[in-house]
Amino acid sequence: MLIVCPERAWVEVELVGGRLGCPSCRGVLGPWGHARERVLRCSSGDRLLRPRRARCRGCAGTHVLVPEVALVRRQDEVSVIGAAIEAKVAGQGYRRIARRLGVHADTVRGWLRRFALRVELIRAHFTRCAIALDVELGAVLPAGSGVADALEAIAVAARAWVLRFGPGDPWRIASRLSGGVLLATRAPAYPWAG
Ligand SMILES: [Zn+2]
Repeated sequence: MLIVCPERAWVEVELVGGRLGCPSCRGVLGPWGHARERVLRCSSGDRLLRPRRARCRGCAGTHVLVPEVALVRRQDEVSVIGAAIEAKVAGQGYRRIARRLGVHADTVRGWLRRFALRVELIRAHFTRCAIALDVELGAVLPAGSGVADALEAIAVAARAWVLRFGPGDPWRIASRLSGGVLLATRAPAYPWAG
């Protein structure tokens, strides 16, 4: 199973300190080596990711701790993918977005297609997250199209998260709330990753 979490230093402290719970049984997770290394393309340059593996002391299940800057099976940082989605909602075409972000046009088109296929699922999931985070939240207003509505729901959920837990990058928050599978190739079962 995958668990999306903040940066490496946080993971080490929590894991070694026995403060991470198993998502399967609520037992305590302990360190269990690392998952395979991979390169993540970030706006600040390439970054080598070596996700931590954890093993439950209760059920012996193993889990991969994916940093929130990444999405499952995507080579690019979540905030770069998010910038492409925002530009699409602002009316830009995929070729122009790709040039500006320095990403291959087919890659950007792939993100936008995947997002467009999922808009209803994404809108519903992030609206639920927003309501769970902020019980006094008003209605999430329609933004004019399926893609815009889904983006609006992500923004509202991220704001509710920030109000509750403090400042954070909205797309990293979206990665956590989607359990890292925001744009996974298979149909996602979005967890409640609160
Ligand atoms: Zn367990």
